[in-house]
Amino acid sequence: MATTTTPNSLLIKTSNPSKPSFPRNPSNKNAFFTTASKFQSTKVTCTAQLQNPTPSTTKPTIPSQDRVFNFAAGPATLPEKVLKKAESELYNWRGCGMSVMEMSHRGKEFLSIIQKAESDLKTLLSIPSDYAVLFLQGGATTQFSAIPLNLCESNDQVDFLVTGSWGDKAFKEAQKFCKPNLIWSGKSEKYTKIPSFDSLEQNLNARYLHICANETIHGVEFKDYPTPKNKDGILVADMSSDFCSKPVDVSKFGIIYAGAQKNVGPSGVTIVIIRKDLIGDAQKITPVMLDYKIHAENNSLYNTPPCYGIYMCGLVFEDLLEQGGLVEVEKKNKKKAEILYNAIKESKGFYRSPVEKSVRSLMNVPFTLEKSELEAEFIKEAAKEKMVQLKGHRSVGGMRASIYNAMPLAGVEKLVAFMKDFQARHA
Ligand code: PMP
Repeated sequence: MATTTTPNSLLIKTSNPSKPSFPRNPSNKNAFFTTASKFQSTKVTCTAQLQNPTPSTTKPTIPSQDRVFNFAAGPATLPEKVLKKAESELYNWRGCGMSVMEMSHRGKEFLSIIQKAESDLKTLLSIPSDYAVLFLQGGATTQFSAIPLNLCESNDQVDFLVTGSWGDKAFKEAQKFCKPNLIWSGKSEKYTKIPSFDSLEQNLNARYLHICANETIHGVEFKDYPTPKNKDGILVADMSSDFCSKPVDVSKFGIIYAGAQKNVGPSGVTIVIIRKDLIGDAQKITPVMLDYKIHAENNSLYNTPPCYGIYMCGLVFEDLLEQGGLVEVEKKNKKKAEILYNAIKESKGFYRSPVEKSVRSLMNVPFTLEKSELEAEFIKEAAKEKMVQLKGHRSVGGMRASIYNAMPLAGVEKLVAFMKDFQARHA
């Protein structure tokens, strides 16, 4: 039976007096929240069709033994359980007589999907009620411009701590819309380090401090986060490649953004988690599709969203919750990373990790071979053993194993066994 409940939690105004007042124009501060939500939360169980459902007879066509271990950096491997569930629901979603790909994004069926995805993500990351969750398009790359457009006037200063090429791209894009300062860059050391936060010379007027929490190409990951020195400044993080891989204290950030295609779904969905008082003060030139106010007021349904991708993210969130949430997920990720980094260490220099030990990523593990002329052979032989996409990014070379949430322990164990065997044959 179709049931409707209101209101949607997204637009509940919650003030947090401990948070600095951010908007540049104080009179505008809560303009966004005075706009009542026209959006109604909807729970759907497709009554008519369920009385006479057409059960899915689709059997998974690819048994797990036919799948490869896919070490790609993104789009990346997805949980097998999620793929099978999606397959079983592909033709006829829960007896509604249509696929999620065919549904109106304004229909009750899809509304129930997006609301469940949002609510499960809030549970997973314990997202405080004064934050909004947006499901957007355009990849994390679009956020490189959306963020300065929404948070700054063109003369405002912001700080960038650049620990890899994604942070560098974000820095360069921000130059078009505000005045970014590069307060630290790891470029001269080939992006293998993160500095101590005390040594950073932050600009006391910086509207925000931007970091890339995990540099996908270089395999450098923040284990803790810096605090902006401007008391009204906020921390902004690109979490594309370690999103939902571990618990994170969302309240430390003004904005967290992530492309879905590494840990939580297919490409085409970008998730933005933003403190609500930061919404509603975008530069006048901001295109409508980049204005957080528009998306928040319309509950991510201003225009046609990437419906199927959002549905897939929802299935992944359900799966992560079933695994026991992000505390359990992090334990698994630590174990996988540990056995891979140990194998590199135990190889006595045959394999090498370029990254400083304390900041090695749990998600993306770049490594090189002492005898670099063997790298192509390594990648070729691994592929024959059904371990694919191990080639390092073209800007770095060598190999890279991306071991996101959905990479099973068995995949990493197989890789490590292969590495040992390869070394025995080629040392
Ligand atoms: N940031 C990081 C950390 C990334 O890994 C990527 C993509 N690999 C991007 C940004 C760009 O994301 P997109 O391709 O979704 O725009």
